[in-house]
Amino acid sequence: MKNTFYDFISSIGNTPLIKLRGPSEKTGCSIYGKAEFLNPGGSVKDRAALALIKDAEEKKLISKGGTIVEGTAGNTGIGLTLIGNSLGYKSIIVMPETQTKEKKDMLKSIGADLRLVPAKPYKDPNNYVKYSGRLADDLKKNNNMGVVWANQFDNVANSKGHYESTGPEIWKQTEGKIDAFVCASGTGGTISGVSKYLKEKNKNIRVVLSDPKGSSLYNYIKYGELKSEGNSITEGIGSSRVTKNFEQATIDDAYSINDHDALNILFEMLEKEGLNLGTSSGINIMGAIKLANEMGPNHTIITILCDTADKYRSKLSNKKFLLEKGLPIPKWL
Ligand code: PMP
Repeated sequence: MKNTFYDFISSIGNTPLIKLRGPSEKTGCSIYGKAEFLNPGGSVKDRAALALIKDAEEKKLISKGGTIVEGTAGNTGIGLTLIGNSLGYKSIIVMPETQTKEKKDMLKSIGADLRLVPAKPYKDPNNYVKYSGRLADDLKKNNNMGVVWANQFDNVANSKGHYESTGPEIWKQTEGKIDAFVCASGTGGTISGVSKYLKEKNKNIRVVLSDPKGSSLYNYIKYGELKSEGNSITEGIGSSRVTKNFEQATIDDAYSINDHDALNILFEMLEKEGLNLGTSSGINIMGAIKLANEMGPNHTIITILCDTADKYRSKLSNKKFLLEKGLPIPKWL
């Protein structure tokens, strides 16, 4: 038997599309989720991490022994660290301390140099993204192997990664029979890269943003003004500004989804379909259901299953926390 060996990096991408049975049955549409939680770092952000590292290598900004610095809600940090380990780069990950303990523990356990900073709005100079950029600049002075600030929010290598991988995979897996794509935006890399690819293939494919409360992007898409209301326990999605990646997205419409609906669908997907999904997937699936109801039966709608609930157990399996927030509680808690 012929054996072909692949390295760790080849396990990123080529994720299956999973039919979401309940949402499909309820709407008469075929709703599929791209199982990004199956990536080796456990999230859609492995793709962005790989694209950002490849970009730095192509620009000759880094060589073995060099350091990657990034500000991240966690998942990009996990991807960067694992890929960095495989290619011989160190990683310094700057994260707001408000993110779940699970993500912090995971980053430390895979060897990231984790720097926790207080959560500050983007306009504050000590916001984690700005802090990580300054840290990279400081370190550059004393490192000959290269120090790279990955800059996932405004480095469009991120959306290019999705244009070259996620978009083509969705097109191939659906054999071009796709009516709409819906997902949330954090950096905007996914929605931007996928929307660009799909619209080039067929300009009639509808692209819709599913935005959590507390984010300004819904109002920006609907009315052209960055404005937010409410808040959300979801992580990794929503924004108070238009990033360079988001700027390139072609979006037809937007929905504002509340945590109550997002959590209810997450608990239902786990109980009835065995899908153990993270918070942003709940916002995405609710967006897909809303869009299916609006478009009517017999449409094919794709969304993203970004990561699993394992990274959010301290929220999603914490009865006290859910009660305090007035959020739904799964019946098994
Ligand atoms: N879901 C999760 C769990 C994430 O970590 C992120 C990225 N921060 C996203 C969704 C959003 O993806 P993107 O950055 O490509 O917009």
